Amino acid sequence: MSLKRKPDSQVPAEESDQLIIRPLGAGQEVGRSCIMIEFKGKKIMLDCGIHPGLTGMDALPFVDLIEADEIDLLLISHFHLDHCGALPWFLQKTSFKGRCFMTHASKAIYRWLLSDYIKVSNIATEQMLYTESDLEASMDKIETINFHEEKDVLGIKFWAYNAGHVLGAAMFMIEIAGVKILYTGDFSRQEDRHLMAAEIPTVKPDVLITESTYGTHIHEKREERESRFTNLVHDIVTRGGRCLIPVFALGRAQQLLHISNLEEIDHFDDVGPCVVMASPGMMQSGLSRELFESWCTDAKNGVIIAGYYVEGTLGKTILFELEEITTMVGQKLHLKMSFDYISFSAHTDYQQTSKFIRILKLPHVVSILLEVICSTDETFQQIVQTAVTKLYQSLAPSQVESVA
Ligand SMILES: [Zn+2]
Repeated sequence: MSLKRKPDSQVPAEESDQLIIRPLGAGQEVGRSCIMIEFKGKKIMLDCGIHPGLTGMDALPFVDLIEADEIDLLLISHFHLDHCGALPWFLQKTSFKGRCFMTHASKAIYRWLLSDYIKVSNIATEQMLYTESDLEASMDKIETINFHEEKDVLGIKFWAYNAGHVLGAAMFMIEIAGVKILYTGDFSRQEDRHLMAAEIPTVKPDVLITESTYGTHIHEKREERESRFTNLVHDIVTRGGRCLIPVFALGRAQQLLHISNLEEIDHFDDVGPCVVMASPGMMQSGLSRELFESWCTDAKNGVIIAGYYVEGTLGKTILFELEEITTMVGQKLHLKMSFDYISFSAHTDYQQTSKFIRILKLPHVVSILLEVICSTDETFQQIVQTAVTKLYQSLAPSQVESVA
């Protein structure tokens, strides 16, 4: 059975039973989540992220495939750049005239985090997607929603559940003409030191659109990774080295700070062994990159990567090419500092995602397949494939148009 069918052009969009789900980014890659849903003539965009490893227009989701002015509703799941980094551009520089929602906490942190992103972006002004004043202006166009509060925009009902992951992160249940679609965004089923685990929706969705960043990967236990982390920091400092921990401005840093009770560094004086957390988390530019370049040639120093690394950023490059790096000014440096990776990422792993799917007893799952899955393991692919096959079997054939 073919997954793609020809559009049924005789039926007007409002009467059609076709549900169209199109990823405009995030399909088989990490970064720039942006998904279009079309059903009964309604068009909804879910998230509007950028690819943190790319700059300028290249970092945008594939929005040239859609008409911005036709979108009724835009929902943002959480404040991470790969989910909302293109939002100021989309709200200020396109013909979009629909409504945009996120939670209160997401909106507050969005303002702060993207301002930081504009500052650390190491590119020419004409290549910048937006400025601080565009960001400021975009705030007026973003409406807020409380968890469990039901909203209605042009007959599209929607409400938010707590997704764990980071402060304010939401999963959205969207209901159009009685059909319920759950979009999880990034979510975590494991409670951590600050945040609850993602809620299990009390209402059963008909279709689930979910992340699968970690595919078949199963996270190491929290206690294990915490002690591995503190031991590593201890080793680097006792051998007289400087320990660099690149962090995203928020999220992982909260966790790490709690574990090791590090003090904030106001005025940094580079005189000897120390532990420094610096953003950005992927060392693309900014303070973490500068510290990395000045410390990387000394074997006593160490960098600990705590998070998830995106293709094309320095963090990802070191993971695979351990010999030499090119500095921001083009100089070649021998990489001698130790390099360790510990995942503190608050994403669901294979066990948690598959359990979530089982609990919801879903016949219809559209998984946003990412690079991890595409690489090797067949088990998860099979689960997804089975779920997608069931989706097509259980819906009347005319109900599904395309799953790219
Ligand atoms: Zn996230």
